[in-house]
Formats: sequence, C-alpha cells, structure tokens
Amino acid sequence: MVKKPKILIVGSGIVGASIALACQNLGADVVVVEQGKLGGLASSNSFGWINASFAPSQEYFELRDAAVDTFRQFSAQLDLNKSVRWQGTLWWEDHGPALKDHFSNLKARGYQAKWLKKNEIKVIEPNLKNAPEEAILTPLEGAGQADKVALAILAELTASGGRVLSGCKVTALDFSRGHVSQAQTSVGDIKCDLVVMATGAAAQHGLVGIDWVLPMQNKTGLILQTSSIPHLINHILMTDDVHFRQNVDGSLTAGEIFSGDLDPNSVPLDLASDVMARLKTKLHGLPKINLTDVKIGTRPVPLDGFPVVGNVPGHGGLFVAVMHSGVTLAPLIGQLLASEMLQMSESSLLVPFRPNRF
Ligand SMILES: Cc1cc2nc3c(=O)[nH]c(=O)nc-3n(C[C@H](O)[C@H](O)[C@H](O)COP(=O)(O)OP(=O)(O)OC[C@H]3O[C@@H](n4cnc5c(N)ncnc54)[C@H](O)[C@@H]3O)c2cc1C
Repeated sequence: MVKKPKILIVGSGIVGASIALACQNLGADVVVVEQGKLGGLASSNSFGWINASFAPSQEYFELRDAAVDTFRQFSAQLDLNKSVRWQGTLWWEDHGPALKDHFSNLKARGYQAKWLKKNEIKVIEPNLKNAPEEAILTPLEGAGQADKVALAILAELTASGGRVLSGCKVTALDFSRGHVSQAQTSVGDIKCDLVVMATGAAAQHGLVGIDWVLPMQNKTGLILQTSSIPHLINHILMTDDVHFRQNVDGSLTAGEIFSGDLDPNSVPLDLASDVMARLKTKLHGLPKINLTDVKIGTRPVPLDGFPVVGNVPGHGGLFVAVMHSGVTLAPLIGQLLASEMLQMSESSLLVPFRPNRF
C-alpha cells in the first residue's frame, strides 16, 4: 500500500482550513496546528465580503472571479448557509464620474454588474433612508463569517479522519537534504512530508530556522458586530461612509473603510460609536440594537498587496499561502494548492502570485 503523504498545515483560519480539507480530499493525512483560537485571527475579525469587484490587475481579477465561483460551489457542498449569504452588493462608495468609471471597468472585465437609479434602489432596499441617486449592483457576490466557515471546514476535516491541534505553536522546521522533515512545536516535534504556512499576518515574523522572509505591510481594520434584529436589509451595502450587511442570524456586521488602514490616532471605542451612528442614519425602522463586539483586526497584506501562494524558494516541501481578501480566495486557493502539492498540477491562475517574486 502506498503511504499517504503527511501534511502539516500551520494556521487554522479560513485559508489553512480550506487547504487542509482540499489536501485531505486528495488522499493526504492532514494535521492542522493552531497557536491561538481555532478559526483564525484575521478570519475572526474580517468583514468577509466575497467579491471580485476590486482587483488592481487583470490576473488578480481572474483569480478573484474564479474564487467567487468556487466559493459558491463550496458553500453548497459544505452546506455553509448558516455562515454565508449570497445576497449581492450595492456599492456607492464613490459618486459621479468615479462611480461611472468603476462600473465601466467592471463591465469591461465581463463582471456581472448593473447600474441602478434611486427609484430602483428603493425597490430592492425599501428600508434604506436617503437612497443614493445611483449605485452599482453586483448580484453574484456574498459575504461570510469567516471564522465560522473555517470551523465548519475543520469539522468536515475531522469527521473524515483529519486532525486539529490547538494551543500548538510551530517554532521551527527541520529539513533533511533540503526537504522538510518535521516541525518543532510548543508541544513536541511533528514529523511531516509537506508543510503549509497559512499563518496570516504572523507570516511577517517568518519561522525560526527559515532564511526566507515574506515582506508584509499588514494593515489594521475595525469591524463592529451587533445584536440580532429582524430582517431589514437585502444586500451588502457599501456606502460612502460605512459598509454593512445583515448575517443569517440577524446580526449586522459593519466596517469603516473597506481595505485601508485604521488611523493610528483614532480611539477604537469612539470610532465604533461613530460608525454605529453613521449606520443608524442609513435605515428606516431600525429597532433597538446593541453593539456586541468591537474588533480590531490585522489584515495580512504582502508587500505588493497580492497573494503569496506556493513553494518557499530553496525549501523543499515547504509552501506558503498568505493573503488579504483571504475570505474570498480561500476555497479556490485550497483546491489549487492541494493539486499542486499532491498532483504536481500547476494552475496558471497562481503563476503571478508565487513567493519567488520576493
Ligand atoms: C478588518 C478586516 C476586514 C477584512 N475584510 C475582508 C473582506 O471583506 N473580504 C475578504 O476576502 N477578506 C477580508 N479581510 C482579509 C481576510 O480576513 C484574511 O485575508 C483572511 O481571514 C486570512 O485568513 P488566514 O487563514 O490566512 O489567516 P488567519 O485567520 O489570521 O489565520 C492564521 C492563523 O495562523 C495562526 N498561526 C500563526 N503563526 C502560527 C504558528 N507559528 N503556529 C501555529 N499557528 C500559527 C494564527 O494564530 C492564526 O489563527 C479582512 C481582514 C480584516 C482584518
């Protein structure tokens, strides 16, 4: 009998969990280790918008576009309907010519998008106060509670024999003749044939014993979570001063700016009250609503802003998968990286995002 390759996945966020399940589905013996909370760090503090609306290069658009499709199929297969909604997005962060330009760019890329006037917006979002004159509807997008998605994936993994170890920090990797052979961890050594570092923002600290460093420009973001309210909004709403959506459980998730950095001079609780106040001005019929969590998250952002996925240069058997927009990308990245590691099949979608560009 051929021995199953033993794969160690470092990090249990949505990216690590997706890679782990994809590897197991291809027949590998998989162990996921997590130093902190299962479900990941960035994944617990994310807005979770699944989209290809924003991509500064054509290659990145193609990756994101394919990723949205993959996520749809993945959420149907895993029955993720408690943590993912495919409600589409209404976007009016910009106005006038900038809004028109954004729409033209989406159409030029063949992306599903519709230009809506105020009267049409009012029909599909009847509880929206002061509807904008114009907005863009991108109907195929969705949003997920990424930590819950990661936990659901890990549950699927363990149900079919995969193993998950929390409270376990990988501190170093050992190599034998240029190929990884084991990980040193806070709870002892773990032998393995292949390792994936899906360590999110922590990737900037590297791993002890590895002389390759991934340059990062991590950014901070503020996300609010509210108590549950009756169903009030139908889409992910990206307005000019707040973005928010309603989850399956009726709670709202809101954020201030989509992909930027938190102003270092801001006081998080004051900013949270401010964002909540902005949100309240947007809706008619809002019942009493409580702020249940103010999250300050660190976005894992490689230096050039693009994902980093593939073999770490000069280190046999060691792979990395670190990215922003990891919620959008995780299920696709999981499948592509697993086939690369286990079936030697390289996807052209990943070629522009290799670690060796650094
Ligand atoms: C405020 C905010 C808003 C965002 N909005 C969006 C959005 O709308 N759409 C979108 O697609 N993306 C969004 N993102 C980005 C997205 O959340 C991340 O790209 C994604 O969650 C990364 O997942 P991950 O599994 O790589 O990392 P994480 O979820 O951070 O998981 C990595 C895990 O690795 C563990 N780890 C690290 N080092 C070790 C070690 N040595 N040993 C053991 N374990 C280790 C960490 O403890 C952590 O739990 C947002 C992020 C933030 C912070």
